[in-house]
Amino acid sequence: MQAIVVTQTGGPEVLTTQDVVAPVAGPGELVVETAAVGVNFIEIYQRSGVYAMELPHIPGAEAAGTVVAVGDSVHGFSVGDRVATAAAHGTYAAQFVVDAAQAVHVPEGIDLEVAGALPLQGCTAHYLAFSAAQPQAGEWALVHAGAGGVGQLLIQLLVAHGVRVIATASTDEKRELCLAAGAEHALPYEDFAERVREITDGEGAAVAYDGVGRDTFDGSLAALRVRGDLVLFGGASGQVPPFDLQRLNSGGSLRISRPTLTHFMLTPEERAWRYNELFDAVNAGTLRVRVGAKFAIADAADAHRALAGRETTGKVILVP
Ligand code: NDP
Repeated sequence: MQAIVVTQTGGPEVLTTQDVVAPVAGPGELVVETAAVGVNFIEIYQRSGVYAMELPHIPGAEAAGTVVAVGDSVHGFSVGDRVATAAAHGTYAAQFVVDAAQAVHVPEGIDLEVAGALPLQGCTAHYLAFSAAQPQAGEWALVHAGAGGVGQLLIQLLVAHGVRVIATASTDEKRELCLAAGAEHALPYEDFAERVREITDGEGAAVAYDGVGRDTFDGSLAALRVRGDLVLFGGASGQVPPFDLQRLNSGGSLRISRPTLTHFMLTPEERAWRYNELFDAVNAGTLRVRVGAKFAIADAADAHRALAGRETTGKVILVP
């Protein structure tokens, strides 16, 4: 089968198509024929060497498709089932293998492209909104990169919960998308902390969700109210350098967390809670999954260029 294989770290050009042996289902595993692959920023960090990976490797953790083989000791899945996952290995491929415990059935009414677009960014937005911090109805939350994959979903989940959202984004078109998702204000990055203070009558936001990292970190701290939470969940602009904890004291007894999805999907119950709420909201029409760009799997390098180059909005997917 054809797959994208990374044999050395580097730029998008290291994403090359190769013929590889098709996967087999070991005990507890499923083999899935790929219908749609979710592209995520973490694959850029892995490809470029920011996060260490064994080489060679097939990128990708998120996808949806149809089960073509079921390993021993698997219960609840059969050949032909439509499934999705946020936690497979090597989904940039015609077929991938996934631990059955990390796969979910795709409900009726949800097509496989949406199902491939939702799991990783959807579960991330869900744990950010309800677990990593818990902004309450009527409180203000700041969401950076609000037109992005996580950003669009996070704004919608927060607003549905009654939280008031101020988003940032780099262009007018992206800021329109933030407003369309339910943000009350959509700001450019310039002087955003001062603008947040003005909007919140001097108080500051209860929570700042920051996946941009290096370029926004200081402003995110400055935008918080006393005892506010900074949830640093990524570094699209680069990683945040070492930090003096005393700044949390002088900033107003602030808290910072640096969460990652795996630690918020620990039990079957936790995974089911997040997936069920997301799929139910999509089926009810209260959560829109915006697929902003679609590439062939063989053109994964172009997908990475577009995502890293800030050209995309919503979700980027790959299709066979
Ligand atoms: P996005 O679709 O949000 O794309 C990244 C966006 O970041 C860009 O579109 C851009 O929006 C903004 N950005 C700001 N500065 C830069 C820069 N210098 N270079 C590139 N982009 C920049 O990506 P994802 O939704 O996939 O991921 C968003 C963040 O969430 C990433 O940091 C990712 O690592 C993180 N993440 C973390 C997880 C976790 O559990 N910790 C899980 C999943 C994702 P604009 O042009 O509007 O500024």
